[in-house]
Amino acid sequence: MSPFTAQTPATQTPTTLTIDGDAVTAEKTFDVINPATGETFATAPETTVEHVDAAFDAAARAFPDWRADEDARRATLRAMADAVDAAAGAVAPVLTAEQGKPLSESQRELRTAALWLRYYADLEREREVIRDDRDALVEVVRRPLGPVAAIAPWNFPITIGVAKVAPALRAGNTVVWKPSPFTPLSTLMLGEALRAVAPAGVLNVITGGGEIGAAMTAHPLTRKISFTGSTATGKKIAAAASADLKRLTLELGGNDAAIVLDDADPGRVAERLFATAFSNSGQVCVAPKRVYAARSVLPALVDALAERARAAKVGDGADPATELGPINNAPQRDRVAELVADALARGAVAAAGGKAIEGPGYFFEPTILTGVGDGVRIVDEEQFGPALPVIAFDDVEDALARANASTFGLGGSVWSGDADRATAVAARLESGMSWVNTHTALSAGQPFAGVKWSGLGVEGGLWGLDGFTDIKLIHRAR
Ligand code: NAD
Repeated sequence: MSPFTAQTPATQTPTTLTIDGDAVTAEKTFDVINPATGETFATAPETTVEHVDAAFDAAARAFPDWRADEDARRATLRAMADAVDAAAGAVAPVLTAEQGKPLSESQRELRTAALWLRYYADLEREREVIRDDRDALVEVVRRPLGPVAAIAPWNFPITIGVAKVAPALRAGNTVVWKPSPFTPLSTLMLGEALRAVAPAGVLNVITGGGEIGAAMTAHPLTRKISFTGSTATGKKIAAAASADLKRLTLELGGNDAAIVLDDADPGRVAERLFATAFSNSGQVCVAPKRVYAARSVLPALVDALAERARAAKVGDGADPATELGPINNAPQRDRVAELVADALARGAVAAAGGKAIEGPGYFFEPTILTGVGDGVRIVDEEQFGPALPVIAFDDVEDALARANASTFGLGGSVWSGDADRATAVAARLESGMSWVNTHTALSAGQPFAGVKWSGLGVEGGLWGLDGFTDIKLIHRAR
């Protein structure tokens, strides 16, 4: 039998917090809901402010030894990657049960997490010598910061968390990691698996919502906050960090535009656009969230997208046939429903879908909207769900101006039969990442960064590693 048996884990062994290398229980628990059924399938330990203190105390105690030995850190990261691989068979079904995504995507999330750990274990950093002559040797060294607060959202609990943990640890910091209360179990299970390989206090895993997150960001021992989530929460965290100038990386919301030029092949574009816009049921920060299509290609593009949307198999992520799982939680499902209903009330046409699916769970029909323009909420706001508006344009300059008329600036893409022409347009998108004839193409070695209200700082590659350090200049006169 496959290690990834596609079944909702009905009786979950109670998970524990990881603090100072120990399994820590809590007096209270909270419910974890399976979005495919709308029912509680497990509980998770509820972290208290005392737990937060204990976790940061442990992280601060572990810091001096951990920062001292880079070879040991690299070896530990490799052992952690092996531990993630070994735990993946048990964790993936739980991730599917609490998040909703198809099991194959949960498995991919765990593989990606192991890959990030190995990437940062192996990454080489050159010495940064500024000057080396008769008079002086001048160089820059990077110093770790101390205990880091790593706070993750519910759409990719594991990869987003590990994309913080791996560079933070490699750089010599220690970590307190908190997943979203909608998806606590997979991260707690990973904490349990990593407890055996990381020295005590180096990686602590706790739970909780906004209050616990706020306690982490305000904590006097926290030296850096690495946060992924909504722009609204990101702004609160920036305010919290300012009190004592904690270092900050914010990966926030997006409203990526995809511009389809008049020479694009609508059938090919539709296939790839659908795959990226509806991956994880649209709950991806950096995915196409509004399409601007040249008027001449729009009808064929909409037809192809609608056909693909109607054919998509929506269901429980534990069913191997499922392509699109449910929306993760009821408030988010209601928000998507509200934005789609608002667009339809303003004259939009649903070429496919258009409403929530009746029955248990938080399912929503894969939806393609036309006859909608700027100024309508689903175009101007981040929908974060399986609904995509397609808007006509006549002039590329106009499309570019409309794509850029957003407070967000995470990703963007341009689609064309002429890659050079598309690249020239893509370079002018006000976004941290631009793609040509694809979208959401990511890897551990490339920078992931939002501009405007989509973020502050960079994850991935050396840029991400450096985000967990302060620079120090050493000037030796000769
Ligand atoms: P959210 O902002 O509601 O919550 C994110 C995390 O912050 C959770 O763990 C939550 O408990 C915690 N939190 C809430 N209030 C806090 C506070 N005051 N102080 C500290 N922590 C607090 O986001 P969400 O709904 O979980 O995730 C969806 C959002 O995340 C979307 O906007 C999406 O675009 C964004 N996102 C961005 C990226 C990126 O890399 N740019 C990636 C994934 C998701």
